[in-house]
Amino acid sequence: MLKIADIETFYGPSQALFGVSLEVKAGEMVALMGRNGMGKTTTIRSIFGLTPAARGDIEFESHDLRRLPAYRIAKAGLGLVPEGRRCFANLTVRENLLVTARPGDWTLERVEGLFPRLAERHQQMASTLSGGEQQMLAIGRALMTNPRLLVLDEATEGLAPVIRKEIWQAIRVLKQEGQSILIVDKSLSELLPIADRCTILEKGRNVWDGTPDLLDDTLRDRYLGV
Ligand code: ATP
Repeated sequence: MLKIADIETFYGPSQALFGVSLEVKAGEMVALMGRNGMGKTTTIRSIFGLTPAARGDIEFESHDLRRLPAYRIAKAGLGLVPEGRRCFANLTVRENLLVTARPGDWTLERVEGLFPRLAERHQQMASTLSGGEQQMLAIGRALMTNPRLLVLDEATEGLAPVIRKEIWQAIRVLKQEGQSILIVDKSLSELLPIADRCTILEKGRNVWDGTPDLLDDTLRDRYLGV
């Protein structure tokens, strides 16, 4: 459903991606991996037109995403949970969910069922939620757009262990339900058991692709170790 071929992306004069390729098929969960600064977030920003690719192809279903303005890309069926969660601080939890709602299987009830904490706090201002709860809200907001592909960038980074567990549980449910997912996350122990495929980037280039079972210690040390 998503096919990225050989994209090159720049921040001003400085090149961050030197030909990245990636594919996500319907129902798949693909993990985009690599150490800090290797180009994962830039790849995601390129998909969403936030830092447009200068070269290469980005195709999503029948859409040529490089030709769409950023606001049309979400409408094409892509849902983004950006790094550093973004919710409307001065709206309640429920209002935050309702503003992004688009028709489809994901309703307020279903999102609040996936994240009971959001149901319990539905009248609370988003600004008063804990970091982890805001992250749940960010995922809920993306689901409310009824995306055919959900993109999660570091959705569990820096959260309290209890909340991380709840978010991973929700991600596993999404995966079981057949939601297509592109995910960047550092918790390999949670990610690898459920990912269908991994793509590793190094210095803005693809260096390894394969199924998680093939990702042995040597590869982990070489490409993912600190
Ligand atoms: P992290 O896990 O730290 O987010 P990443 O793999 O997502 O790492 P990117 O954020 O995509 O990496 O960064 C790729 C390269 O682009 C890095 O060299 C980074 O310094 C550079 N870069 C990222 N954002 C900008 C920016 N706004 N302006 C200039 N260079 C940037």
